[in-house]
Formats: sequence, structure tokens, C-alpha cells
Amino acid sequence: MSITNKKDLSDSVKKVCKEFNLPSSIASKLIGTVTEHFNDPRRAKKEAVQHFTFNWQNDLIRPVLLASELEDFTDNHISFVVARILALAHLSRQWRDAKKVSRTHPYLQISLGPTLYSCPVHSDDAGKSFPVDSDYWEKKPLRENLMCGCSFRAITKSEAE
Ligand SMILES: [Zn+2]
Repeated sequence: MSITNKKDLSDSVKKVCKEFNLPSSIASKLIGTVTEHFNDPRRAKKEAVQHFTFNWQNDLIRPVLLASELEDFTDNHISFVVARILALAHLSRQWRDAKKVSRTHPYLQISLGPTLYSCPVHSDDAGKSFPVDSDYWEKKPLRENLMCGCSFRAITKSEAE
């Protein structure tokens, strides 16, 4: 199995900074932080907060914090950004691994994230499995919606039946 690599991390920083309109000066600092601390999300979040010299909040993140019963504070907005970067990088790595083992494990099974609310995209599909090459994954990509905390695992044909 591969590990989360620098490209996974920098691609996901770029995607997330674009989503939330963060300047490239912050993006380059975030790449450094998540690359150094991708195994220690608490530390990454703590360090990331220091890159913001202004009271940054984002309207797209606010409803997710509310649904998670978290306070609408700047630190929580930034923590969400870091968690999303790490989750997306992890997901890229998982896709790479899933494609590698698709001969023996041709299906991916969805599980819902440990969130207080149910995922607006996948909640009806919890526990279901779809082939790795199914267009399901393009129609309903994991983690695109900010409220999605779902994940998948690769399973065999007999596990899927
Ligand atoms: Zn989901």
C-alpha cells in the first residue's frame, strides 16, 4: 500500500484554497504544514492557525460547523480547512490503492462518516457497494460536498454479494 504523498497533499491544498478563496501565500504555507504534520492533525491545525494573520471565516464552512455543534469561531473554520485537506489527500491515496487491488477487490463499500448529521449525498447508500469502475463514483464523488464525511473500503466480489 502506498502512503499519502506530497503530491496528494499539495493537490488537495490547492483544491481547498480555491474552494474557500484563500490567497496563494496561505496555500504555500499550508502545503508546508500539512506535509510536515499529516500524521498529526492536531498539530497541523494548531500550526495552520498561525498562518492566518486576519480573522478568517468562510460562509460555506459555517453551516457545517453549526451541524457539528461547533462554535462559529475562526479557529474552527481553519481546523475545518485543514481536516478537509487531509481527508482529500487521504482519499486520493485510497483511490490509488483501490485501483491497484481492483483485480482481487473489485468493489468499494461505502460507510458514513462519524458526523452528528447524515451525509446529504450518500446516506441512502451506506453499506452498499459499487464496482471500482462504476460511474457511481463520478456521479456521487466522496467528500465533494462539505457535509460528506464518508469513506470506502475495497472488498472482494463475495463480500459484495
Ligand atoms: Zn457522503
